[in-house]
Amino acid sequence: MRLVLATRNDHKAEEFSALLAPHEVVALPAAVALPPETGTTFAENALGKARAAAQALGVPVIADDSGIASEALGGRPGVYSARFAGEDATDAQNLDKLLVEAPAGSALAYVCVIALVDPTAGTEAHFEGRCTGTLAARPRGDGGFGYDPAFLPDDEIPPPAGRTMAELTPAEKGAISHRGRAAAHLREHLGG
Ligand code: IMP
Repeated sequence: MRLVLATRNDHKAEEFSALLAPHEVVALPAAVALPPETGTTFAENALGKARAAAQALGVPVIADDSGIASEALGGRPGVYSARFAGEDATDAQNLDKLLVEAPAGSALAYVCVIALVDPTAGTEAHFEGRCTGTLAARPRGDGGFGYDPAFLPDDEIPPPAGRTMAELTPAEKGAISHRGRAAAHLREHLGG
């Protein structure tokens, strides 16, 4: 199936192309406007973007929203993960804030929701993937992005053990990540 991905993030487009193969993921035309992420849940934000693009284009669209939830912080930053340290905060500033506010070893969960809106069939659905872990005492690794240098996944990983998400290869991360798991649910739904 051919799916337009409602994002302006090139990195996401590449990642979803790999995760959803053999389905074809195509970029969002520049003329299509996306609504701001004002929802209080990942599903609301993902569905909002997918609906807007599907309405504009009349073809099947997927969109995602994701973030990290800290148990010690009552689930924060959640849908506010990209702006945890402020509206224009960098990944490094957001990560520093998490390391200051939550204790090392405390429980974390990455969450991703992918919405699928198909105006040709008149259907909507969304799929959630989670990846649990704990907060590292200090950030380590150059891979991934965002909170990855301080996220120690609970899942078994290929040796060496004890690596942060930022120390995994993209394929190792995709196999256990929230995005990989949400994409697997979507693939099951689409079949093929
Ligand atoms: P969005 O889905 O682009 O809105 O992402 C929200 C934010 O969640 C990102 O800016 C990151 O701070 C965080 N995030 C989501 N997925 C990941 C991940 O795989 N690794 C690290 N941080 C992530």
